[in-house]
Amino acid sequence: MIIILKPNSGDNEIKKVTSSLEGYKVSFHISKGQHTTIIGLVGDISAIDREMIETNPYVERVMTVSEPFKKSNRKFHPENTVISVCQREIGGKHLAIIAGPCSVESEEQIYSIAQSVKQSGAMFLRGGAFKPRTSPYAFQGLEAEGIRLLKLAREKTGLPIVTEIMSPKFVGLFEADVDIIQIGARNMQNFDLLKEVGRTKKPILLKRGLANTIEEWLMSAEYIMAGGNPNVILCERGIRTFETYTRNTLDISAIPVIKKLSHLPVIVDPSHATGASWLVEPLAKAAVAAGADGVIIEVHNNPECALCDGPQSIKPEVFENIMKKLAVYAKAEGREL
Ligand code: PEP
Ligand code: MN
Repeated sequence: MIIILKPNSGDNEIKKVTSSLEGYKVSFHISKGQHTTIIGLVGDISAIDREMIETNPYVERVMTVSEPFKKSNRKFHPENTVISVCQREIGGKHLAIIAGPCSVESEEQIYSIAQSVKQSGAMFLRGGAFKPRTSPYAFQGLEAEGIRLLKLAREKTGLPIVTEIMSPKFVGLFEADVDIIQIGARNMQNFDLLKEVGRTKKPILLKRGLANTIEEWLMSAEYIMAGGNPNVILCERGIRTFETYTRNTLDISAIPVIKKLSHLPVIVDPSHATGASWLVEPLAKAAVAAGADGVIIEVHNNPECALCDGPQSIKPEVFENIMKKLAVYAKAEGREL
């Protein structure tokens, strides 16, 4: 349920309305926009009499929200959410460009890639340390050592770091060391993990599951937000379809759909969506044209020898070229790189 207050309402009016609802098992979610203030009610609203609230002199209108996702719902928060990370913003005018290798492999590798993507204009460095691999015999990542190397690369380049968490037991380590915590596609519905990162205030990059609907994806965001962490960035990374030519099928329509349903920023991963380096450029452009708030791209200095996801990794010089082209698309959308 959302309560829309009369124009120019302030804290006093908010307090008057919320105190009239004390005693109900609901929590209040306040959204102060430029013109309107909205009080979102989350919890058991069955006993609340909508007409009774509408008699309150400060209330303009009351609406019920039929969707199961509430805090992530645009009806609760009509303005776009902009998330601040290390003096950068995700969801604002500037597009968030995250680049780096699938996995951290060595100090030289991560530093060299970090330097080159920074030079091309990337704002964040990605690199997997704990890798979710289909085969237990495949490279599993450098784990804690990988985080240490990411920190070194951050120290030298100033780029904030983005890396994937797989287990709730590492939340403390990630909270201390990482700037954006990635929840991978395979863990989108690992509810214990979602609850645990929801207890932090860290920005969370929540990838869409391999075969999950948009509503399920938003419900996973809701888990994190319900725990008290509003800093969720959604990431469309392709879904499973009958098509086998590409690794996944990029659901480009998910971007405008998310923008309609939710106020959270949404970015696109054209690397995992396609599995092919030559498809990264067209799909990155499509993402920006469709209104995405950024992209996350796998870049490797030697893709042929990459320990993970070489075929979809682009070389630093290709990344530089894509960045130049993306700037044109960004401008057409009223955005900047
Ligand atoms: C990754 O970013 O390296 C990764 C494993 O992504 P996803 O969870 O989207 O497959
Ligand atoms: Mn990868």
